[in-house]
Amino acid sequence: METLRPENIRIDSLKNLYQQYGITTDVLRLDLIHPVISGNKWFKLKFYLEKAKKEGREGMITFGGAYSNHIIATAWACREAGLSATAIIRGEMPDVPSQTLANAKASGMQLHYVSRAVYKTGQIPDEIDARDLLIVPEGGYGKEGAAGAATISAFIPASYNQVILAAGTGTTLAGLMNARSGRPRCTGISVLKNNLSLKKEIKDLMTHNDELSLRHEFHFGGYAKYDKALIRFMNDWYDVTGIPTDFVYTGKLAFAMDSLIRGGYFKKGDRVLMIHSGGLQGNTSLPKGTLIF
Ligand SMILES: *Cc1c(COP(=O)(O)O)cnc(C)c1O
Repeated sequence: METLRPENIRIDSLKNLYQQYGITTDVLRLDLIHPVISGNKWFKLKFYLEKAKKEGREGMITFGGAYSNHIIATAWACREAGLSATAIIRGEMPDVPSQTLANAKASGMQLHYVSRAVYKTGQIPDEIDARDLLIVPEGGYGKEGAAGAATISAFIPASYNQVILAAGTGTTLAGLMNARSGRPRCTGISVLKNNLSLKKEIKDLMTHNDELSLRHEFHFGGYAKYDKALIRFMNDWYDVTGIPTDFVYTGKLAFAMDSLIRGGYFKKGDRVLMIHSGGLQGNTSLPKGTLIF
């Protein structure tokens, strides 16, 4: 697999796309770090890797679904760091594994499928000897994950007063809030349906009592769900901006930003930075021809 290229991170201007609203919008291209590893996942794993090494662990064990960007990122990061990688996968083993899991396995990750009921308990099956493994929560959620995500703020110039990003576990959002207390204002777009515990989960990771802006109306039916309107938007947005998005996170984020701008959520003069957190590998699970990129 290709190496990680943080030096590729850049800010793309959306030029005059939303000029009529008096708003500047730019995109932080964390997706350019790597074609498969989601930009934010690599940041979130940084301190878990450090911890595993410091504690002399043999490897890491984590949790996720068949299309999880976190799983593939963990597989890859562990291999690079010379650590073993083990994953508990939600749901029975399918006849044909997802591209994500096939890639994880090819990177040397050991996959253990468990039923959804067992997965929910968060328990590690008895047949896995996890004594020498660092347990990394699903999605990299946790203090170490937030601390890693906080380092993304080094790529956010002070000239932006608004940041908008997709939220799964909200670890990335918490990290950014911790790094730049109060400024810029961060708005998280939840990609899960009715995930009303999200606010508390993010607050638990926050080091300051800042106001948290979350939007829950852009999930398109739930996690990894999509419809024609989302796909049409992603294709149109690519046509206009030249920036590809994924249907699980950043497509919904771009849609949300577009609709919030049109709905007057941002003020005239605002400088908005959209965080493109990557995730493009997830598009491989869409039927061929769905997207124009
Ligand atoms: C995992 C992921 C997110 C969500 O990150 P959280 O820290 O869990 O909120 C956003 N975008 C992409 C592309 C991801 O893979």
